[in-house]
Amino acid sequence: MSQAPLDWVVFKIAQRCNLNCSYCYVYNRGDDSWKSRPPIVSDDVVEMLGRRVAEQCARFSLPRFVIEFHGGEPLLVGKPRMQRIIDLLRAGSPRVELRMILQTNGLLLDEEWVELFDHNHVSFGISLDGPPEVGDRYRVFPNGQGSTGRLLEIVNRLRRSGPLFDQTLGGVLCVVDPSVNGGDLVRWFVDNGFDCFEFLLPDGNYANPPAGWRGVEPMRRFLLEAFDAWYTMGKRAPQIRLFETMLLGFMGIKPELDALGGDLRKLCVVESDGSIGISDVVRFCQGEYAVDRLNIFRDALEARTDAYNIAELQRPCAQCEVCPHLKSCGGGYLPHRFDGTSFANPSLYCDALFALGERMVTAIREDIPASLIRIQPVPAAAHAELSL
Ligand code: SF4
Ligand code: SF4
Repeated sequence: MSQAPLDWVVFKIAQRCNLNCSYCYVYNRGDDSWKSRPPIVSDDVVEMLGRRVAEQCARFSLPRFVIEFHGGEPLLVGKPRMQRIIDLLRAGSPRVELRMILQTNGLLLDEEWVELFDHNHVSFGISLDGPPEVGDRYRVFPNGQGSTGRLLEIVNRLRRSGPLFDQTLGGVLCVVDPSVNGGDLVRWFVDNGFDCFEFLLPDGNYANPPAGWRGVEPMRRFLLEAFDAWYTMGKRAPQIRLFETMLLGFMGIKPELDALGGDLRKLCVVESDGSIGISDVVRFCQGEYAVDRLNIFRDALEARTDAYNIAELQRPCAQCEVCPHLKSCGGGYLPHRFDGTSFANPSLYCDALFALGERMVTAIREDIPASLIRIQPVPAAAHAELSL
C-alpha cells in the first residue's frame, strides 16, 4: 500500500486551446496524444471520476480531495457544461469535501465566469509571464500574435467591476524567461496587483532541452535576482511558492510542490477520455513514459502508484542524496531529470537551484541571532532540521 494516498486529481476537461504557446508541453514538446482524446470531457467520464474519488476517499479515510480543472484551455467547455461538471462531481462524492481549483489562460474570462467560480467555491489561477514585451515572446494566439495585452485588458476590466475577481483569483503561474531580470519581474507583478504567483521553470531535460537553451547560468542569475528582490520587500513581499517551499524545506517541512520533488504519488492526471498516465508533463519524455496504461473505467486512482512504479521513479539520484539542499530542492521536477533513458539525475536546473539554496542559507544566517547558530548540538526534541 502506498505511504501517501493520492488526494489530488488534475482533470483535463478540455484538450484544445485558444493559444499556441511555444513552450507548451501539451502541443509543442513532441506529444500528440491530445489529438486522439475527446476535445471536451463527457458526462460518463465525469461521473466515473466522481465515483473513483468517492472510492479513494473511503478506502483511505480522506476527509477532503482536490480536483484541479486543466486543459488545454478549460474555459472552452463553456459555462453550462462547467456547471454540470461541477455538479456531477459533487453528486458523485457527496460525503467528501471537494476542493475545486482551475487553471486558465484567462482569455475567455468575464464577469459571469468569475461569478460561476465564486458561486461554486472554485478558486482559479491565470497564466501570465509578465508584461507584454516578455509574455508575447511565447504566449501567442495560433496566428502568432501576442496575447498578454488582451489578458491584461480583461484583468483590468474585471477589477473595475468589483472585488470578486481578486477574491476568487488563487494566483498566477509564470513560466520564467531567464533572459529577463528576475527582480524587475517580481516588482512588475507586485506593481500590477498580483500578490500570489509561482515561477515555473520551462519544461525541458537533458534529452530534450527547452527551446533556445543556453545553459543553466541565465536561470541561476534570474532566480537570485528574483529571490533578492522578494526577500528584501518586507511587508510588500508577494507569495511566491517556489521560494516559500524551499525556505520551508530548510526548516524540515517536506516540499509538497511537484517542481521541488514533492511526492508524485499524491496526485494524478485524468485525461478527457478517462486515461491516467504517469503525468501529462512527463509525457514529453516520450517512449514508454508517454503511454497511458490505466483508465478510470477499469482502474482505481490509487493503481497509478504501482502501475508506473512512481516511488522508484521519483527517488532522488545519488548526487541529490548527498546534496546539502535536498530538503529544499527535492532534486527538482521529475521530467526535468530525464536523460533519454532514466530519471536518476539531478534536475537540468541543478546549478540554479543549488545557487538559490546557498543564497537562502546566507539570508537565513544573516537574519537569525548568531548565538542560535552557535548552539551545538541541537537537542533531539527541538531539532528543526535546519541544515545551515
Ligand atoms: S494556454 Fe496553456 S494549454 Fe494553451 S497553449 Fe498555452 S501553455 Fe498550452
Ligand atoms: S541542488 Fe542539484 S544536486 Fe542538490 S538536490 Fe537539487 S538537483 Fe539535486
